[in-house]
Amino acid sequence: MKSVSIFGATGSVGLSTLDLIQRDPHAYRVIALTANSDVDGLAEQARATGAQMAVIGQDHLYGALKDALAGSGVEPMAGEGALVDAAGAGADWTMASIVGCAGLKPTMAALKVGKTVALANKESLVSAGGLMMEAASASGATLLPVDSEHNAIFQCLAGSSLDDVARITLTASGGPFRTRSRAEMAAMTPAQAVAHPNWSMGAKISVDSATMMNKGLELIEAAHLFPVGLDRIEILVHPQSVIHSMVEYRDRSTLAQLGSPDMRIPIAHALAWPRRMATPCQPLDLARIGRLDFEAPDLDRFPALRLAREAAQAGGVTPAILNAANEVAVAAFLAGRIGFLDIAMIVEDVLNRYSAATPCAIDDVLAADGRARVHAGEVMERLTA
Ligand code: NAD
Ligand code: MG
Repeated sequence: MKSVSIFGATGSVGLSTLDLIQRDPHAYRVIALTANSDVDGLAEQARATGAQMAVIGQDHLYGALKDALAGSGVEPMAGEGALVDAAGAGADWTMASIVGCAGLKPTMAALKVGKTVALANKESLVSAGGLMMEAASASGATLLPVDSEHNAIFQCLAGSSLDDVARITLTASGGPFRTRSRAEMAAMTPAQAVAHPNWSMGAKISVDSATMMNKGLELIEAAHLFPVGLDRIEILVHPQSVIHSMVEYRDRSTLAQLGSPDMRIPIAHALAWPRRMATPCQPLDLARIGRLDFEAPDLDRFPALRLAREAAQAGGVTPAILNAANEVAVAAFLAGRIGFLDIAMIVEDVLNRYSAATPCAIDDVLAADGRARVHAGEVMERLTA
């Protein structure tokens, strides 16, 4: 039996992970499930899986969670500290699927245990990649990428030496606004932005896909997971989302990983690794798909791609600042406070105020993240005044 914990269990990736685990309940023992504010959803999951503990991120919801778990034998916990404690509880396999930099501390705590961490929470790696990779290597933890592109690259690498890699190609669907002009994008609503053509995902990553900041974050994520040098990591728009990414070796042989756009495929890969497991996902029907298209990304219409590459080149805390400003701007867009094009504009404005310092500890990253959030708020005030 494998012991598992899921951080962000009530989200899109969390639910897909639970779906796989619940298909074979005798193979897994659930240690911890966590959510930010959905007490009822979390309590239901914890009861159904017989979890040891359930952690709600918001402190003030402790009483409600305790009531919802009464008589279940599941230990209720609440608050940021409890998330870190639960991550340190030592599950064999931990899914890090909290959205945003809020996942950083629990993910670090899970890495320090030295077991396996399946990483979906890209924002934590973007913000503190160097420190996270160091923590993993110090503890001997296995870090398995769940983001479909990075999982694809991991599969294409299959243990090969990075010295033999000529180029990594991250594919991008291009999002719902792939063919839209800037003028059209200016008028796009949150509902239009979250309507992704291929993937069903949480609201934040869906907006990131529409601005293509998601691919920018993934570029930074890839540079940490597969350190071949930023200039060897390219982005290619591939609207069908069938090829999830590619690795070209120095002999000019290129390997690609293909599959239906269903996150349960990369999650299952990380869950069963180094073996494979059966999934309920659709087999790939290339005859029905018929054709695969590719185009170069348009950095003028999608400035977030340029900003992310510049932030990656600057290094230090700059990616954390990019990420924090983006989190604030996306939340404001989803709340109807700013327009779609304002998102990248706010990120650029915030980035322009900082120079890159190298973070020595997670607290340096969180301090930069906090300052960037304040500045993003100020930029927004000016914008909406
Ligand atoms: P989601 O919004 O559906 O779920 C997020 C989860 O995190 C929820 O369980 C929520 O309760 C929890 N959470 C949110 N804020 C929190 C906080 N402050 N403290 C503690 N918990 C908090 O998001 P998602 O789409 O499942 O994405 C999760 C992560 O996985 C993101 O980093 C995203 O970029 C990445 N990812 C998602 C997909 C996808 O298909 N959804 C694909 C690749 C990568
Ligand atoms: Mg992805």
